[in-house]
Amino acid sequence: MPLPEAFDYAEPEGMDLVVGDHVAVPLGPRAVRGVVTAVRDGAGGNRPLKPVLDRIDDPVMPASTLRFVEWAAKYSVDAPGQPLAMALRGLRAPKPKPTKLLRATGALPARATPARQKVLDAIAEGAMPGPELATRAGVSSGVVKGLLDEGVLAIELVMPETRFDDLDWASPGPDLNDSQRAAADVLVEMVHEGGFQAALLDGVTGSGKTEVYLEAVAAALAASPEGQVLVLLPEIALTQAVLARFTTRFGGAPVEWHSAVPPPLRRRAWEGVASGKARIVVGARSALFLPYRDLKLIVVDEEHDGSFKQEEGFIYQARDMAVARAHIEKCAIVLASATPSLETIWNARQGRYRWLKLGARHGAAQLPDVDLIDMRQTPPETGRWLSPPLVEAMVQTFARGEQTLLFLNRRGYAPLVLCRACGERMKAPDSDSWLVEHRYTGRLVCHLTGFSMPRPDKCPHCGAKDSLVSIGPGVERVEEEVRELFPQARVAVFSSDTVFDADGARSLIATMAAGDIDVLVATQAAAKGHDFPNLTLVGVVDADLGLRGGDLRAGERTFQLLAQASGRAGRRDRPGRALLQTYAPDHPVMEALAAQDRDAFIEAEMEARELAVLPPFGRLAAVIVSGPDPVALEAYVRQLASVAPNADGVDIFGPADAPLALIRGRRRKRFLVRADRTVDLQGFLAAWRARARPPGSIRVVLDVDPYSFL
Ligand code: ADP
Repeated sequence: MPLPEAFDYAEPEGMDLVVGDHVAVPLGPRAVRGVVTAVRDGAGGNRPLKPVLDRIDDPVMPASTLRFVEWAAKYSVDAPGQPLAMALRGLRAPKPKPTKLLRATGALPARATPARQKVLDAIAEGAMPGPELATRAGVSSGVVKGLLDEGVLAIELVMPETRFDDLDWASPGPDLNDSQRAAADVLVEMVHEGGFQAALLDGVTGSGKTEVYLEAVAAALAASPEGQVLVLLPEIALTQAVLARFTTRFGGAPVEWHSAVPPPLRRRAWEGVASGKARIVVGARSALFLPYRDLKLIVVDEEHDGSFKQEEGFIYQARDMAVARAHIEKCAIVLASATPSLETIWNARQGRYRWLKLGARHGAAQLPDVDLIDMRQTPPETGRWLSPPLVEAMVQTFARGEQTLLFLNRRGYAPLVLCRACGERMKAPDSDSWLVEHRYTGRLVCHLTGFSMPRPDKCPHCGAKDSLVSIGPGVERVEEEVRELFPQARVAVFSSDTVFDADGARSLIATMAAGDIDVLVATQAAAKGHDFPNLTLVGVVDADLGLRGGDLRAGERTFQLLAQASGRAGRRDRPGRALLQTYAPDHPVMEALAAQDRDAFIEAEMEARELAVLPPFGRLAAVIVSGPDPVALEAYVRQLASVAPNADGVDIFGPADAPLALIRGRRRKRFLVRADRTVDLQGFLAAWRARARPPGSIRVVLDVDPYSFL
């Protein structure tokens, strides 16, 4: 619960609690779960303390996990209960029930029949569940029951064994090339030395970063019998591909952890991590909060990815928190990327992280040629989205029997629906965002809140019939165009609307990797990390998309995403090509992409950030205030503005209407706080918030290191 600090309870005689124990305690009229954070002698002051009700029989939380939880709460200026709840998420499913097995007691049946003899023969193989015994013996359940009643058979309760695959870390990987070997040696040495050490593993897509960090994983597993490794990935879809590579290399499956893992498996994973039986965890950001017993190595793959930032509930940046966790666990951490974040490059430049650079792509694979298509000079036909040069390249690719990936980071059919008669734009009733048209479902959907409605046949505003038009493309619309252009081609869409879960992702990726799709139209879910051997053409439908509505990282993010997407092409022996459709070919991001000059781009971007003293040269926090009543909200933000502490090296911008000024009926205002790196930003925010308690209907959310400015 979001309580500001831990509460005191009395320890009943004989309970002998230790730090990390799970307990049931009274809170008001209820009994709730808690974790012991400290045990100390002495009474709780003048008031008598309520006693702990019970100890809950779950594995003890390691002290380092608790320290990490406390640190995370402080960093995010949030209540410790928030990250603690995340750390306990694996325990939501009830403990597994023991299974009932029957075994022979050795007693002989009073009356022997052929059916009874068959049962005795079958049970001689070992204990098994009653129904299985009846099936194996080929008798009715009545026969089995009779023997049970007579005491010839007895019930045995057995806890399901939580076994994890044995891993063979001695099995060798491929022969590494020189730059791979050099990087792997450093990582292995870091793991062997122990203690906190961080490294940036920097290499273009396909340069073998995964092969290199697998060497460090093997070293960590070999280092101690309970040594553990955590691999953090930004997307569930990516998890599947990486899991497969671990399984191939180590002959056993790692533990998987993300939102789509069902609760019973989560409990199994949680308990395995706490007991040290689970040696490798591959998961999304929340895997960072598992109760590792002996963590030796953390890998953050695609470290630049914005999905490591959690924006709701407990707000945190998992890449940054992973570094903190490595510090607390005194272990090694590797941040891997082809397009590292400016923050990480800065840390590497400062010498905080070792900077391991891989050479070109491994083997014969070449980086793709990247060309810009100037949409002003070669525009698509009206109502179409693919320009003639891109279509021509697709024709050639198709003719060669190779695959095309069309990348468009927009779900649905069209991002906007408007009325031709009155100009009305379809919006959600309670939010400030346009409704996105989805053709598969025939609905208009708000991607922000999930609100949806059937596509109306007349304008809800002016009532004109058949006046609604779809504006702009989403992946579904591009798919439609591809089907018209290439009726013989096998076309698929990869977005969160077509791929719902890990299994779906796995099977679509496998189909693509097997070459059974000619054109894959995909949002960013497919742009990252995958290795499709026969993919030689990547077309970026709208390269300018991410640059609009620009925030601090718009340029950086666009560069990273498009470099990643382009990097999908030509991963094997055939050359690849990436074509970027843009209306701004002379934008610095587009020029850097076409020239494949990452360093020049980073240099320019760093300079701009340094001038403005923005991250990584300064620090940012957002204060988001929301409430249902505009007048009360305005009054409160004014009050908040008036009590802001005076501090050197801190600038406060706002309050301003948030770009999304209305979500789910709540109006939103924002402050942006910029601080020099020397400022205790968290202390400043906590002091500020304490000076103006919000009325009940108003919520104040602090976002340290914001990534979204909406
Ligand atoms: P990255 O993680 O940098 O994108 P990967 O580790 O996925 O690169 O490597 C790209 C492809 O090249 C993979 O199929 C990988 O198995 C292969 N590869 C990389 N290095 C080697 C090597 N030294 N020997 C054989 N194959 C390699």
